[in-house]
Amino acid sequence: MMLKDKVAIVTGGRQGIGLGIALALAKEGCNVVVSDIDQNDCDVVAEKLKSEGVKAIGIKCDVSKKEEVDALIAGTMKEFGKLDILVNNAGIYPFVPFEKMTESDWDKVMNVNLKSIFLTSQASAKVMQSGGKIVNISSIASVVGFEGLVHYCASKGGINGMVRALALELAPRKINVNAVAPGAIETPGASGAMAEETKQQMIAGIPAKRYGQPEDIANAVVFLASDKADYITGQVLVVDGGWTVK
Ligand code: NAP
Repeated sequence: MMLKDKVAIVTGGRQGIGLGIALALAKEGCNVVVSDIDQNDCDVVAEKLKSEGVKAIGIKCDVSKKEEVDALIAGTMKEFGKLDILVNNAGIYPFVPFEKMTESDWDKVMNVNLKSIFLTSQASAKVMQSGGKIVNISSIASVVGFEGLVHYCASKGGINGMVRALALELAPRKINVNAVAPGAIETPGASGAMAEETKQQMIAGIPAKRYGQPEDIANAVVFLASDKADYITGQVLVVDGGWTVK
């Protein structure tokens, strides 16, 4: 896929979908900066990636904070001297009924899921001197509603809109901007605490009759991050085992 010697940042990369993406990029020969809110966990993943024969480092970053995002990009440039791929994966999905949702609940989800992408994309675009790829992890919650996730659905819908506008602005600089919208993926954050019965009910509603795995999303991200996707920009690729086409 021609990812050898490229440099990628993966946010929220210590577990779940982000970990799957970091591993898949490393398997394609890509050097990876693993970023998440815990430095130690980032370091553990970076060590694991090195066994694929690539360079990898961990940089702690709360993606909702501009100073930490700027430090993430600066640290990447200091270590590798370039940035080719930005994967905006970090995200939270706390269930709160709308009438009980506080302003702070709303702000937190918007800041971590949407403002973060403004911050990371802007800082990254400044250093992507010879083109690049920005891949955002959206959700099927950007195209269908989920009760208890009004703020989350709004944040993911925001990502889809942002992808289209940013793709236009960055096209002249050969920076492609796309999103992958996962369905139900088995991760510590999503299904980790779910009862087996609830899981089986979910699976019954998915045409593919199984949960997605982080690798299912990672495969789409690797494609969109590669030169095979050079003519694709401003798109949202749904990866959901057929959930939203029923
Ligand atoms: P996950 O297992 O909770 O992993 C996400 C990682 O991001 C966690 O390590 C989390 O730390 C970290 N994180 C949270 N806030 C952060 C911040 N402010 N800065 C940096 N990192 C932060 O989640 P996942 O299920 O893999 O989801 C990854 C992405 O896929 C999210 O954007 C999510 O919305 C999207 N998605 C997931 C599914 C699914 O079914 N799993 C479906 C559709 C879309 P903490 O554990 O401390 O929060």
